[in-house]
Amino acid sequence: MNSNFLQTPIVYLKGVGPNRAELLRSELGIESFQDLLQLYPNRYLDKTQYYKIVQLKDSGADVQILGKIVHLKTIDQKRGKRLVASFVDDTGQMELVWFRGQKWIKENIKLNEPYVIFGRINRYGGTFSMPHPEMELLKAHQAGLKISMQPIYPSTEKLSNSGITNRVVSKLIQQLFLETKANFEETLSQELISELKLISRADALLNIHFPKSQELLAKAQFRLKFEELFYVQLQLLNKKAVRKQKIKGLAFDQVGNTFNDFFQNHLPFQLTNAQKRVIKEIRNDLGSSAQMNRLLQGDVGSGKTIVALMCMLLAIDNGYQACLMAPTEILANQHFNGLKELLGEMDITIEILTGSVKKSVRKGIHERLENGILNILVGTHALLEDKVQFQNLGLAVIDEQHRFGVAQRSKLWRKNQVPPHILVMTATPIPRTLAMSLYGDLDISVIDELPPGRKPIKTVHRYDANRLKVFQFIKDEIKKGRQVYIVYPLIQESEALDYKDLMDGYESIARDFPLPDYQISIVHGKMKAEDKDYEMERFVKGKTQIMVATTVIEVGVNVPNASVMIIESAERFGLSQLHQLRGRVGRGAEQSFCILMTSHKLSSDAKIRLETMVRTNDGFEIAEVDLKLRGPGDLMGTQQSGLLNLKIADIVKDNQILKSARYYAIALLKEDSKIAKPQNSKIRKTYINLTKDKAIWGYIS
Ligand code: ADP
Ligand code: MG
Repeated sequence: MNSNFLQTPIVYLKGVGPNRAELLRSELGIESFQDLLQLYPNRYLDKTQYYKIVQLKDSGADVQILGKIVHLKTIDQKRGKRLVASFVDDTGQMELVWFRGQKWIKENIKLNEPYVIFGRINRYGGTFSMPHPEMELLKAHQAGLKISMQPIYPSTEKLSNSGITNRVVSKLIQQLFLETKANFEETLSQELISELKLISRADALLNIHFPKSQELLAKAQFRLKFEELFYVQLQLLNKKAVRKQKIKGLAFDQVGNTFNDFFQNHLPFQLTNAQKRVIKEIRNDLGSSAQMNRLLQGDVGSGKTIVALMCMLLAIDNGYQACLMAPTEILANQHFNGLKELLGEMDITIEILTGSVKKSVRKGIHERLENGILNILVGTHALLEDKVQFQNLGLAVIDEQHRFGVAQRSKLWRKNQVPPHILVMTATPIPRTLAMSLYGDLDISVIDELPPGRKPIKTVHRYDANRLKVFQFIKDEIKKGRQVYIVYPLIQESEALDYKDLMDGYESIARDFPLPDYQISIVHGKMKAEDKDYEMERFVKGKTQIMVATTVIEVGVNVPNASVMIIESAERFGLSQLHQLRGRVGRGAEQSFCILMTSHKLSSDAKIRLETMVRTNDGFEIAEVDLKLRGPGDLMGTQQSGLLNLKIADIVKDNQILKSARYYAIALLKEDSKIAKPQNSKIRKTYINLTKDKAIWGYIS
């Protein structure tokens, strides 16, 4: 069956028609034969097993039992009549119950004859019962040709209300198999099929919809998941290859004076091994003539800034400018000050551009940028404005990438005739699983080591009722000279309420920590930038001991003397956000603490989040838990990629298959980079079909 036929609009399938076609489209996104073929069942009712009554469990599962009806009676109660049958096998007794169609059952049922019954098990008191069982005499059951595993398809209320029940969907798919003669083209090479002992695509499709046995179902699932992930990986890897070959990059082929000078005379500490390794990886990239698109992952406090600076110095050594873009003004300022301090007396010009830089100053910056006097420009989104023109931008560093969208990055991309190298830094660890699927076309460097001497942060969970004790603890820490963050949630949907929470909280803290003994800063999103900076500054300089804030401080702010992080309504924060916030402390030599405050009302997910935070400081472990809790769909960037619209595979659960798919995709491209060899013709054809309508987005991501 060729793939064109499978593109036939679903309306032309016998049994569909315009109404059903519209429903299938709007409810399940099914437009073509192909889409219906790929509507894979969510689960299966196992009719290969026969259960004994003694084996039944109160699991709500559908089971099949062989036995006899020994007794039938009608029970008449206020709420209505029901028909109850006593059903037995050689291990026990249970009940079958009918609320509707009782007359027909009474007239047709045969007592003391072996039946096979099938249905959902309930338990009332000590007795199991099955309402409205499917039933069939054993004789007929044995004679008939049966689907042993009944597929249950994804559905919606609207569909089943409109008569498109599971049975109907199953019938339509049977019809599809009839019309296509179940003759589905192979999409993988013979080599892969033999090597992985896969069943054919046609067999897999047949058994995913009409499994002949558990074993064949498992094989069908494996085959289809592998295939799906294999093609995702091929696309990602191919994009990466295209980028490396086609997009000429700026070759930074020399390590020059500024880099060496900095390394020898200005490095304030020994680099960790991880930092050294990552700088080497980046240097290799920058030295080749391919454009770099690299993601630098490192937990909060792992020291990404100095890595970024050293890369910027490489750009400068090769006659280029560099920029560093941060998501907030506070962070941009902090980077600017931090970089200036690191550079010390070195002869490097560095300036900052944010929304609040005055017009007159701005003009000067624009000029110095265009005539190349300016080496490094730090800033916020303001850098993206068209007016901001570099003489020759060689490297763009983006901090905390998830705040920026693809479109914004593409603007950066166009700031130079030859695209600049791009280094994206993120403190949100991306689980390997996800990184492989989502960023498979990016290069990734990981700083997986913290600078020496850091004490792990102690994290505890406290209920609001213990607030007084927590406040006493804060007072003790402040007495020792420490500083404290108190953070309130700010979720956009309920901004007004959150704002009120923050203000109420601030007032009560101001009462418990009165002047003149205690000085409090407050920073939140509704303040003017200059007021924020002023308050921030007071805290950074140690003039205030407590910083009350919303999540604006989430990213990057560095105050080594702050050693206590209190997170209010911690149950309302996501895991990665909690981890980010916690990363604000633990930056100095002192023991740091993170206290998660909540009420007693906690959802089960919230409990897992809190327990995870208390258990571990490891960002990657936290990210894995987060991925499991939320699923990949909700995580940053997944929607953007469009590649995770998987029909059967699950990148979390099918991690092993994903690894194998990636392995074989890499191997294929290594052997046959253009997928041109005759033995790979099926892969080539499938790949072309899959990608023909898609613009290449891999350049910028
Ligand atoms: P992040 O990765 O969160 O951006 P930073 O770059 O802000 O981390 O570094 C956190 C702190 O650790 C800074 O105060 C920085 O000076 C310090 N630091 C970074 N690298 C090292 C190192 N190798 N040894 C000691 N301190 C370091
Ligand atoms: Mg940082």
